[in-house]
Amino acid sequence: MSTLNPYQPPTTRLREALSAEVGGDCWRDGKELVVRPGCTLPGRCIKCNEPATEPMQHARFYWHHPALYLVALVNLLIYLVIALFVRRRTPVTLGLCERHRARQRMSIVASVAGSLAGLGLVAFGITREAPGASVAGVVLLLASVACGIVGSRVLVVTRIGENYTRFKGCSAEFLATLPAFYRTR
Ligand SMILES: [Zn+2]
Repeated sequence: MSTLNPYQPPTTRLREALSAEVGGDCWRDGKELVVRPGCTLPGRCIKCNEPATEPMQHARFYWHHPALYLVALVNLLIYLVIALFVRRRTPVTLGLCERHRARQRMSIVASVAGSLAGLGLVAFGITREAPGASVAGVVLLLASVACGIVGSRVLVVTRIGENYTRFKGCSAEFLATLPAFYRTR
């Protein structure tokens, strides 16, 4: 007689059920935040654990396998098209306090101002036939865009899996208030 039980749930499902049982849809795992897609984080600032300003932010995060960046080295356009189709998406509602929200807004304003100044320098360089100014303008433009992206994003995706998404960027104080993630190995 076979001892196989056809009604036994797959072990991965069982582990997920156990993990969900631990509580809610967000957990801490070391320095990382683990969530289910669509989760609403507790109403505290993810950067300092102070009460979050209402309304909380609805953010969307995207991720694809890092190996895909190799395609970008060969052809940027093909990379962009593939990335658009294979990227995974996770919506998360997150909280920031007034101080950290202001910091996020400032980096966006500074980025836009820097980009406009860069474009102005490029135009100045072209009309006055001063290539040095144009090169400086392009550098300022790229630096402003990069600083804007880094300064305005409050969470960084480390991986979007089938069921869970992992982020870096939460403060230790905020993470300490979340239940520990039940490790699925
Ligand atoms: Zn804060």
